[in-house]
Amino acid sequence: MFKIPEKIINETENFKESLFALLEKDLSKGNLKKFCAPWGIYEEKIPEKYMLRVGIPAGVITLDQIRKINAIAVSFGKEHIHLTTRQDIQFHGLSLTDIPDIMLDLLGINLISKGTGGNCVRNIACSPLSGVSFDEVFDVTEYAIETMNHLLKDSSSFSLPRKFKISFSNSNSDTAYATISDIGFIAKIQDSVRGFEVYGGGSLGNNPSIAIKLADFIPATDLFYYVEGMKELFEVEGDRDNRNKARIRFILYKLGEEEFRNKYLWHVEKVKKIKELDLEPKIISNSSDDINQNEDISFLIKNQLVIQQKNKDYAVNIHPTGGNLRLSDLNRLINFINRLNYRISIRLTNTQGLLIRDLKSNDAYKLFQIISEFTSSFDIDNSLSCVGSEICKTGICNSQHLLAAIIKKFKNVDPILKAELPRLHISGCFNSCGQHLKAEIGLAGKIKKVNNELTSVYKIYLGGHIGASQTRLAADYGEINAEMVPEFIYELAKLKRNSEIADITEFLEIEKENVLRLIARFGDNNTKNCCETC
Ligand code: SF4
Repeated sequence: MFKIPEKIINETENFKESLFALLEKDLSKGNLKKFCAPWGIYEEKIPEKYMLRVGIPAGVITLDQIRKINAIAVSFGKEHIHLTTRQDIQFHGLSLTDIPDIMLDLLGINLISKGTGGNCVRNIACSPLSGVSFDEVFDVTEYAIETMNHLLKDSSSFSLPRKFKISFSNSNSDTAYATISDIGFIAKIQDSVRGFEVYGGGSLGNNPSIAIKLADFIPATDLFYYVEGMKELFEVEGDRDNRNKARIRFILYKLGEEEFRNKYLWHVEKVKKIKELDLEPKIISNSSDDINQNEDISFLIKNQLVIQQKNKDYAVNIHPTGGNLRLSDLNRLINFINRLNYRISIRLTNTQGLLIRDLKSNDAYKLFQIISEFTSSFDIDNSLSCVGSEICKTGICNSQHLLAAIIKKFKNVDPILKAELPRLHISGCFNSCGQHLKAEIGLAGKIKKVNNELTSVYKIYLGGHIGASQTRLAADYGEINAEMVPEFIYELAKLKRNSEIADITEFLEIEKENVLRLIARFGDNNTKNCCETC
């Protein structure tokens, strides 16, 4: 269970006083940002409007918490909440002075915003289907939450050289993206002992890096030593002078793989000598014992439904467009869950959605009907997009507008063609909040001078893949004027259809020359100026 340390409870309760005291001192914008960022508070593009990011540890959220989040959003006149790719929830368009009271409301439901921004240990990610998926080695949820509890107790977790992202995956599919995290753990059992494969030094953004394998197996009881070891390495080797080169991946670049691994393991051993951080061993359970015969509704499985390993119950995947969950839709979900007379579980996904798990087949079917009004069964409609430049102060292109334009382009298209492409990942700039670098098809916005005028274009990234020891970053294939991107995506779907290659990775490999030609064709048209699409 997630436990907020007393110190953070006190700081949250006193946040209003601290904020108002600082505002009275006529803070410079820089100082205000420094104060607010570790609390997940960021100024938006619209003057005097702020975002508040709330961490949902391991993505585990309860109905009561969702109800309260809904009530907070309603009371501030919001129409939606934003679900992120790191299992956080964001409120947008808030007044700075309203935020302390919201933080108190969140504290009342055991949630905090501390550590969701700035140079902190960020919300710890966990495979959304952990505990119920067929391919899982074991449920890693409690390890993710215990690690969060452990790190929140230490104030040094909030003053690191830069952000520190940790992930836990329950299988080699690496659905929490351990292999692109600062440190990532993938569940493994060796000689009947629960443990993890350990990866480190990965992250997206400028000069991205895939994490390297740091240990083939560590017993789960040693987990905290390996977390602390990376934190120590970060403290000692991290660059506190140059923010742009401060992430752990730059230590990897500086030292090289071998020295990075050796130094990391040296820090782990050092922590072992000076601290007592052993975790309780867990009993390995066989979760497939308890099979219950649900009615088979697997014909509905296409993005929204997942059959669970345990009890063959169902998990329903909800993906609001662009991660923006309208409160009217959230209310319908709340009402539906309220009417159930058995326990279900809810998880935020790392694909801007949420999962309602442990549903009986008839209820899964009912929910499927409810969400079909706001969750599509087509991957292309369920593409990911960061909030984009309309909200984000550092954003370059309006990724949300581009997503809307792509969805519109495919609206009345033949369903077979529409089903050709996987989810796109769209970032409004190279910061990669839409995770374009891990995607099979990714797009990142930039500004380019064409005929002496500034033009919004998207770089096209293709061929990314995530998996234990298989992760590869998407490669840069060129760039296309923002206005032309929907048409390009449509032509790409047609090219794939005509190739008769079902698998997207195979298609991109075999048809690489044709894909490059297509990009060049659209790239040649990079002459239009900034428009509504970008
Ligand atoms: S990717 Fe860029 S535009 Fe999008 S949220 Fe991140 S910083 Fe903002």
